[in-house]
Amino acid sequence: MRLTLTLHDYLDKYIDIVSADKTWCPICYEQVLQLDRDKDIKHVISCYKEMKIEMNFREQVRLYGEVMDISKVLLRRIDDMVQEEITAYHIKYFKPDKSG
Ligand SMILES: [Zn+2]
Repeated sequence: MRLTLTLHDYLDKYIDIVSADKTWCPICYEQVLQLDRDKDIKHVISCYKEMKIEMNFREQVRLYGEVMDISKVLLRRIDDMVQEEITAYHIKYFKPDKSG
């Protein structure tokens, strides 16, 4: 199954899940949430990164028949993409706490 939701969608889902006092992660579906927002969001973000890496590997297999690139550069690029999504999410939902 191809997952195409953004981090944003998953964080919205996460909020729905914990609002209903449930503890399953919207990405790995494990009962891992602790209803501690910082820890839970960290978990969701790390699951999201893993999912992105996995999707990239699958795409490589589709294109080349095997995983050609597992370089640090690739992982760094995925990391940066996720970081940008985190920043965009914060800008949408939270006022910056510091100026600049
Ligand atoms: Zn998870």
